[in-house]
Amino acid sequence: MKVLVCGGAGYIGSNMTELLSRHGHSPVVFDNLSKGHRAAVQKAEFVQGDFGDFDFTIEVLKKHKIEAVMHFAAFIEVGESVDQPLRYYDNNVSKTRTLLAAMEAAGVQKFVFSSTAAVYGMPDQIPITEDTTKCPINPYGETKWAVERMCHFQSQTGRLRYAVLRYFNACGAGFNATRGEDHKPESHLIPLIIQAAMGKRDNIKIFGSDYPTPDGTCVRDYIHVEDLAKAHLLALARLDSEAQQVYNLGNGKGYTVRQVIDCVRKVSGKEFKVVEVGRRPGDPPVLTADASKARNILGWKTDYPELEKIVESAWTFHTANPNGYND
Ligand code: UDP
Repeated sequence: MKVLVCGGAGYIGSNMTELLSRHGHSPVVFDNLSKGHRAAVQKAEFVQGDFGDFDFTIEVLKKHKIEAVMHFAAFIEVGESVDQPLRYYDNNVSKTRTLLAAMEAAGVQKFVFSSTAAVYGMPDQIPITEDTTKCPINPYGETKWAVERMCHFQSQTGRLRYAVLRYFNACGAGFNATRGEDHKPESHLIPLIIQAAMGKRDNIKIFGSDYPTPDGTCVRDYIHVEDLAKAHLLALARLDSEAQQVYNLGNGKGYTVRQVIDCVRKVSGKEFKVVEVGRRPGDPPVLTADASKARNILGWKTDYPELEKIVESAWTFHTANPNGYND
């Protein structure tokens, strides 16, 4: 299938692009390189441009005879979304509306959308199922939820077939640790701890140690990026038979921040400074997924359920690429 991968030069998008190629699909990466890395795109066609540009997006869809679109081009920083909500509504909602309109105009119906556990806000139930109440507590989560609803209503017209994948904590580096996280600035826990272990930062800060969890730090469900990508492939194949799909993607096992820090210590063999600071606003104490729907309906299986393997892949990527993709 010819698949347009919006944000295919980014972290999850570049892993997806590689997986699509390996499965005989023809991905076309569409990325404005505002955050992504050209070097992360290796075997796919690359188009530099913006999915918020209606006319250009139609041209790309038509020229490349695109049959499905995967969308990884959202802004993802919770804190930034609180500071700059309109920027998030513009990139994550308005531009996605334009993308869907361009798809409609070009007659492309299939859409796979990266969503997030942030749509649940402070969940009233753990583990979280797809039916858990959606009540985002920051603009990032709210913009993802808005797109989910937009897809829902657009698909009711019969002109869109979509799958929404709600990621828990995406991490690790895919494809023999060749495609890892390189965000600037970095805000995610595992790469930050690794930077501390590599001596690239003075310490790792624990945001809150008074949560109602076994060791007082937040519990998250860490899921390897290659396992995430596999679920997209399965959801894409199922769009022929099912026009509206929503799945949680996680391992269903939670780790505290301290456990993740210990795991990086073990994998790296390095000591580094850990500093306890106050809570980060908007952090729910525990987020773990019930991903049985993806397992049962899509037949999704994870290859990297152990945190240690995930961290090993991230450590390998970061030590091999100490300056990221160097672009
Ligand atoms: N965290 C932390 N120190 C950091 C970065 C993150 O203690 O420097 C915590 C954060 O509060 C959360 C967990 O690590 O409980 C995972 O955070 P991340 O930003 O990686 O992902 P999120 O859960 O926000 O999607």
